[in-house]
Amino acid sequence: MALTGMQIFKLLPKTNCKECGVPTCLAFAMNLASGKAELDSCPYVSDEARAQLEEASAPPIRQVALGKGVRAAKTGGETVLYRHEKTFYNPTLFAGLLSADTPAAQVEAKLKGWQALQYERVGLNLRPELVAVKDTGDKTAFAAVAKQVAETSEFNLILMSEDAEAMAAAVAACSFKRPLLYAATAATVDAFGKLAVEHELPLAVKADSIDGLIELTTKLTAMGLKDLVLDPGSREVKQSLQDMVALRRASLKDGNRALGFPAIVFPCEMAGNTDMEALIAGMYVSKYAGIVVLSDLNTEALFPLMLERLNIFTDPQRPMTVTEGIYEIGTPNENSPVLVTTNFALTYFIVSGEIEASKVPAWLLIKDSEGLSVLTAWAAGKFSGDDVGAFVKKSGIMDKVKHTELIIPGYAASIVADVEEELPGWTITVGPREAAHLPGFLKAR
Ligand code: SF4
Repeated sequence: MALTGMQIFKLLPKTNCKECGVPTCLAFAMNLASGKAELDSCPYVSDEARAQLEEASAPPIRQVALGKGVRAAKTGGETVLYRHEKTFYNPTLFAGLLSADTPAAQVEAKLKGWQALQYERVGLNLRPELVAVKDTGDKTAFAAVAKQVAETSEFNLILMSEDAEAMAAAVAACSFKRPLLYAATAATVDAFGKLAVEHELPLAVKADSIDGLIELTTKLTAMGLKDLVLDPGSREVKQSLQDMVALRRASLKDGNRALGFPAIVFPCEMAGNTDMEALIAGMYVSKYAGIVVLSDLNTEALFPLMLERLNIFTDPQRPMTVTEGIYEIGTPNENSPVLVTTNFALTYFIVSGEIEASKVPAWLLIKDSEGLSVLTAWAAGKFSGDDVGAFVKKSGIMDKVKHTELIIPGYAASIVADVEEELPGWTITVGPREAAHLPGFLKAR
């Protein structure tokens, strides 16, 4: 259970030294209780108090690290049932299923194709993280495919087998990639638990019911395992969704630590065709899978799923922004046009993309508007004429160009007079309202 501010205060040094950035230990305790401060900000907490506080402040759903390298990722760590209550932290991870009887040449081709599935969006690289290698009864082949995936691709792995010996062989081939072992069942819990403990690997747990999961996780945590992933075993969509909601509610609302782990789902085993599989996968991005395993990775399904994931796992209280400053689009010179807009990330990427498409090199000034788009920023007084003029003066653009023309967004046309007043001698030109019209506008000048 989470500690109250007063309970936390009793564990702090009470010296009011202010090194944590607030005037008193009591204020720090209150901030810690409400999630506004990090325990590490106080350097004087005793080891004993730290252990107590860390246990109490651990998220109700454990954060589990999977994999190594550039596609290493975390799952779980969530603290709220609904995104609007705060935010969701660790995006749902996507895995493509690969049968262990696939010939090496086909595995190579598949990995190459899957690795190319990467999408740039608002400055982020969106891509799948995992390959789930499924044992087909030949432990040598299972280990060989696991080794091939681990050694020849960026992907991290889920090793899927019911046979402890086959799993041990695959682990020996790819443990350096920190694979997720799938899955310990009532029949294999001892052997799989031992393997996970020995190699310090995350372990998935599969049962026929949520009660069955509680028994298994209780046993495994007693063995010292903390990084667990849950599969309640349901493969019928309605039951599976109910299980996902029940797991999330049990950990967040009832404080059930035995179920406080991220969940894995298999739309690949729930749908008759790939379209339906993608729809089901989309449902689990919002409710509430940590890992979604797909029968294949293809751009038609993956791209919309990636965008959904990006939207669901973006902090609703913090607009995505880019840094205020001067951005060069192409190779602008002293005669190139100067445009200004706000620092909302989507605005920046759309505007800069359209300028790039125009093939007219330009200077793009990005003014801090607290992450608001042009019209909203203008309405909120964050993109006023005075501010824009003052920003242009201090931006340093005057040292880079020898003309005095500034192009402002069409939606901010009403600030022209104020900008002119702030920038005497400058010509303020109103650009198009929609970024899509920028190429035509720039080329016609
Ligand atoms: Fe208290 Fe620690 Fe903050 Fe100092 S740094 S005021 S001891 S909580």
